[in-house]
Formats: sequence, C-alpha cells, structure tokens
Amino acid sequence: MLEVRDLTVRFGGITALDGVGFEVRHGETVGLIGPNGAGKTTLFNCLTRRYRADAGTVRYQGADLLAVPPHAVAALGIARTFQNLGLFPRLSVRDNVLVGAHHHGRAGFLSAGMRLPGVRREEERLRAEADGLLRRLDLAHVAGHPAAGLPFGTLKRVELARALAARPRLLLLDEPVNGLNSAEVAEFAGTLRAVRDDFEVTVVVVEHHMGFVMGTCDRVVCLDFGRKIAEGSPAEVQQNPAVVEAYLGTP
Ligand code: ATP
Repeated sequence: MLEVRDLTVRFGGITALDGVGFEVRHGETVGLIGPNGAGKTTLFNCLTRRYRADAGTVRYQGADLLAVPPHAVAALGIARTFQNLGLFPRLSVRDNVLVGAHHHGRAGFLSAGMRLPGVRREEERLRAEADGLLRRLDLAHVAGHPAAGLPFGTLKRVELARALAARPRLLLLDEPVNGLNSAEVAEFAGTLRAVRDDFEVTVVVVEHHMGFVMGTCDRVVCLDFGRKIAEGSPAEVQQNPAVVEAYLGTP
C-alpha cells in the first residue's frame, strides 16, 4: 500500500530524514518508533505533503505520492492525527467529527449552496454516520459536549473518530497515547484494534509507549537521527541492541 524509498528531508544543516525506506502492506499496523528528534513526525509531514522531500520516492497504492498536491492527499484516503490535539475546543464533539468528514473532501458540496435539498440530505447522512462513529468509539454520551474540558483520554478518541470520519484507507496516528494513563492506553489500544478491523484501515502509528506498540503493531520501524536503524516484529525490534542503545545510550 505504501512504499517509502530513500526519503531524505533537510532543514538547513539538519538532516531530519536520511535515506529512509520501508513498506506498509494493506491491512497492517506498523509502528514507527525512535527517540525524540529521530524524524518520525517529519516522515508523517512528508507523507501528508506538509513538508517537501529533498530526495527519495513514496508510492501510495501505486501512485507517486510526492507528486500529489497537499490539498489532494486526504481525497486519496490518507488521514492523520496530531501529536498536539488539533480539535476545535468550542465545537461539540459531534461537530469536530463532522469537520473530519468535510475536511477530508467527502463533502465537496459546501460551496454548492446549503439550501439545496440534496445538500441537506448529504448533511443528514454525514451526521448519522458521525453519530454511528461516536457510538462505536464510546463517545455518544459526549456528542453534544464542547471538546474543551473533556478528559484527555476522551479527546484522543475524538481525534481518532475525526480521522475515521473521512473513511481513510491509510491512517497516520502521531503519538495517540502520549499523556494517557495506563487504563486509558489499554482502552485506546482496544478501540484501535476494533476499529481498524471494522474500517479495514491500514495504520502507521508513531508512538513512544512500548506496551502500546507491542500490543497493537504487526511490525515496527525504528528511526534514530533520521536513519532507519531497525525493522521487524515488535519483539525483535525491542530486543535489537541498536534500538536499546538509541533509547538508553551507551553505558
Ligand atoms: P519527537 O518524538 O520528539 O516528536 P520526532 O522523531 O517526531 O521527535 P521530528 O519532529 O520529525 O522528530 O524532528 C526531526 C528533526 O527535524 C529534529 O532535529 C527537528 O528539530 C527537525 N525539524 C522538524 N521539523 C522542522 C522544521 N519545520 N524546521 C526545522 N527543523 C525541523
């Protein structure tokens, strides 16, 4: 589904990604790990075309992703969440999820005039779909609640719901359990396992929480200083001496 080859991104004197390559197969959940500053978020920003690549190729479902303009990425079925929540605090949970459906190009009718009956029907359909998603992610009880003031663990699930509202084929999750307590991490992991099967979505997840990675990922890629230093099953990568050294440093 996704084939990254020799991807290189530089910021002035910093090489944030240095010839990175890996593949993601349809239906897989791939973890992207590595110490702070390893280049994980830069990789996501390349895949979503927020950042320009200096070298390398990315093929997504056979197409040259790096030739796609940033505004067209979502329409290809790629959705992402952000390390720092990107929700609208004053909008209700339901409206935040509806923004996901609109933002990702599933409702290109917004400019067509809101009074048209077809538009109203489409809005109602999207709203019903959003409510279904909220029930699926155990968020129905907060559907009308403004995002502001909700527990962090709930907001992380709202972000997941918003990304799923676009019915993506490839879901990029940036540190989805960062800041959650262990019960919330377990709950999020359970939710993710369930929805990725329901939605037949392929997932790439950046995460530092190794328990979460071990419990949700089929394969793991580890970056350090912009380079891939390991790839394999979660257990293999966790035991890889280069990975241990990258995280803990040399004794
Ligand atoms: P973390 O786990 O802390 O989120 P990361 O692995 O996601 O780290 P990146 O955020 O991708 O790391 O950063 C990789 C390197 O690129 C860092 O040295 C960072 O300072 C640099 N970098 C990232 N984005 C930019 C930018 N827009 N301008 C300049 N440098 C940047």
